[in-house]
Amino acid sequence: MTWNKDFKRPRISPNQAHARKSGHHRWIVRGVLFIVTASVLGVVLATTHKSLSVDPAASPSQATDSSDVISLTIPVPPTNRSDFIGPSPLGKAPEIDPWEHITVKKGDTLSTIFSRLEIHSQLHNITSLPEIKKLLKSIRPGDRLQILKDNGALAELIYHKSETERVHVKRDGDGYAASKISDPIEHRQAVAEATIEDSLFLAGKKAGISDNLIMQLAETFEYDIDFALDIRTGDHFRVIYQEQFANGKKLKDGPILAAQFINKGKTYYAFRYTNPKGETAYYSADGRSLKKAFIRTPVKFSRISSHFNPKRKHPILHKVRAHRGVDYAAPKGTPVKSTGEGKVTFVGWKKGYGKTIIVQHGSRYSTLYAHLSGFKKGIKRGRRVKQGQVIGFVGKTGSATGYHLHYEFRVNNVHKNPVTVKLPKAPPLPKSLKTDFMTQTAALKAQLDRYASLSGKD
Ligand SMILES: [Zn+2]
Repeated sequence: MTWNKDFKRPRISPNQAHARKSGHHRWIVRGVLFIVTASVLGVVLATTHKSLSVDPAASPSQATDSSDVISLTIPVPPTNRSDFIGPSPLGKAPEIDPWEHITVKKGDTLSTIFSRLEIHSQLHNITSLPEIKKLLKSIRPGDRLQILKDNGALAELIYHKSETERVHVKRDGDGYAASKISDPIEHRQAVAEATIEDSLFLAGKKAGISDNLIMQLAETFEYDIDFALDIRTGDHFRVIYQEQFANGKKLKDGPILAAQFINKGKTYYAFRYTNPKGETAYYSADGRSLKKAFIRTPVKFSRISSHFNPKRKHPILHKVRAHRGVDYAAPKGTPVKSTGEGKVTFVGWKKGYGKTIIVQHGSRYSTLYAHLSGFKKGIKRGRRVKQGQVIGFVGKTGSATGYHLHYEFRVNNVHKNPVTVKLPKAPPLPKSLKTDFMTQTAALKAQLDRYASLSGKD
């Protein structure tokens, strides 16, 4: 049995050709990569890699012609497709759907559902199946299931665990057998680009990409571009990303594989790279990290209630006492993040600081987080933490008048203003990985630059 899928690429009208020139055109699917992990009826069936080299860029005119239907034949082993039962897809006379379709309501259990369908006596026949045992614990309002009855008894049950995963129970001799089904997930590669006229989000919309992907794009370049202040009309981006599909339906966008952002005439690149340890990050074309070693602010959605000031009058002690950090006012319990990767060197009570954490980052830098209401579970002295990892929560322990985080940043043991201190870049890729990085990203770089020459942008 084979499935035929038509992946349509949008036709390009003269209007759109113009739009593309101004940058509001979306390029779809170049290489199609399938990473198919199919587990049908409990058996892992196939891992298929398909590369489709339809390369319109090789011949630019091809990008604008109308031979825009790519047909793929995906071999799928014979399976019981009864879980797709519904109105006949083959265009025959509509049949009566023999399945009961149920959406789990608040307070529902498999038991109440079986009672409603008058098959409660069969429940014990399936609850001993391991797949169902697991299911019983995870059943949630909004979940969908289908039940097929035969002479008043349960014949089949399909529980949709997610868009792509199901548990299928079927009569098997005197009892029942259950299996887990996972639909193959296709990873398609897509390209989009846009020129910014009003805002990054509107440009993203015009390019046909999701808000989620736009957020990812902004996060990728956030250390180089201030998206609140630096964006200008005429800025341009181009992004190569993955789209995940199952059963011909799009599940989600992302991750971004490579991107180019032209901001105020300056071109920035980002390439996603996973090192042999399995750690993934974005790097510039020559392997420099796009991240800085520190994020600027340890608490989100906060405001500065007291600045770094070596001559401040202390609000409680009423005498001149240097304020050697920054205070961020935030509600009690707001997560506090370690601003850089490092090692926890202190967790506990520290006089006026109250509950405090100190993190050492390499030999030169350390950060301090004070007046916490509590520490994140597992945060202990000697523990390594990542940049952005939650380590504690905003409180007002020690000498504090209201809920806030007191944050200090030291370089070679000298207090610096956390708001203005020049933050060091994260280390580049080690030499030993550079060749691997270049090999992995060369094709993406070529692709980004090829679009540049196609659209006349750069
Ligand atoms: Zn303070």
